[in-house]
Amino acid sequence: MTLDIARIRKDFPILDQQVYNKPLVYLDSAASSQKTLSVLKKEEQLHLEYYGNIHRGAHFLADQATGEFEAVRDLVKDFIHAGSREEIIFTKGTTESINLVAFSFGEAFVKPGDEIIVSEMEHHANIVPWQLMAKRKGARIVKLPFTDDGRLEVEKLDALINEKTRLMAVAHVSNTLGTINPVGEIIAKAHAKEVKVLVDGAQAVKHLPVDVQALDADFYVFSAHKMYGPNGVGILYGKKELLDQMPPYQGGGEMISEVTFENTTFNEVPYKFEAGTPHITGVIAFGEAIRYLQKLGIDRIAAYENELLAYATQKMLEIPNLVIYGTQPEKSGVITFNIEGIHPFDLGTMLDKMGIAVRTGRLCADPVMDHYGVQATIRVSFAVYNTFDEIDQFIVALKKLVVMLG
Ligand code: PLP
Repeated sequence: MTLDIARIRKDFPILDQQVYNKPLVYLDSAASSQKTLSVLKKEEQLHLEYYGNIHRGAHFLADQATGEFEAVRDLVKDFIHAGSREEIIFTKGTTESINLVAFSFGEAFVKPGDEIIVSEMEHHANIVPWQLMAKRKGARIVKLPFTDDGRLEVEKLDALINEKTRLMAVAHVSNTLGTINPVGEIIAKAHAKEVKVLVDGAQAVKHLPVDVQALDADFYVFSAHKMYGPNGVGILYGKKELLDQMPPYQGGGEMISEVTFENTTFNEVPYKFEAGTPHITGVIAFGEAIRYLQKLGIDRIAAYENELLAYATQKMLEIPNLVIYGTQPEKSGVITFNIEGIHPFDLGTMLDKMGIAVRTGRLCADPVMDHYGVQATIRVSFAVYNTFDEIDQFIVALKKLVVMLG
């Protein structure tokens, strides 16, 4: 059964509007996707009917909110096929999830002289936390490079791993190149040498079925706001045996077992890593985003987005002097590009005035920009609510602007 995109668009009322008197064409879902009506309604319902702080209150509202919050933990566990609910930690986003692991894993397992391998195509969120930790612990970051067409040079991994390597950090899907990395193969190689792996799934979970146990990922992280859910909510999946050995990242309420001025004992996972009041509304509403993805079916979403990607790529390549960064066959819905002789900011600004929302700049991936020797790029990205018609509008606009600005 194919997806009814016209019907799906009704679930995202924000899309049905004009900007600068032009119909909005939203091609920036890799930065943040729009939220389903069910997510927005859940947030409203919670605030109107049963909001209360979770875990602590001995009253009806708190009990109801706690029940729903914890039910989403089970939903996430099933969504990524984790082995147990204790392995699902709520954070405020991918960035916080990675910072948590970099800090706590670093404290538990990294010593001076150790090495962390980071792929060259990572978002800054999967580079800088490792650098901060490496500086604190006297460790070193080692780069796994990619080829000019956007393929991670996995064959070099064996030579990079040595007895000092503690962890490898890699994106499941690159936010700039769109490459779907062979994370299963990377994890197998790393594990053969007892190296742990953190997979940044921020761009992957809305597009690929993820099974963290089949992958054997040690850590898998992602953000709700890139998968039709609320912003301010992220997930850290971690193997329990590792989480148990890692010290807390932040101190406060909820993460403790007992506190005296002399000594504090910590709660069990996942609560050990959930200090303070979490984003209660966001987490509960995130459940609706997961249900939405499950209802449509990740495979069907991926098949449709792949069609959009192939169509847009083919149309864009008809434009003279247009360069696409990242041309791997295993690619998910982003196209990062430049047109020779036209500044990407000019192009992005003009597209905006024509109602077309794209991302411009360095895409939080300076090393990728440096790889290609470019200052900035433009990125279009697709979600299940985009249409072929929108791509046609984008291509017509692009062609006009090439004439105007070229
Ligand atoms: N990793 C990747 C691959 C991303 O695309 C992003 C966001 O663009 C992040 C990490 C950071 O996510 P967040 O800002 O939700 O923490």
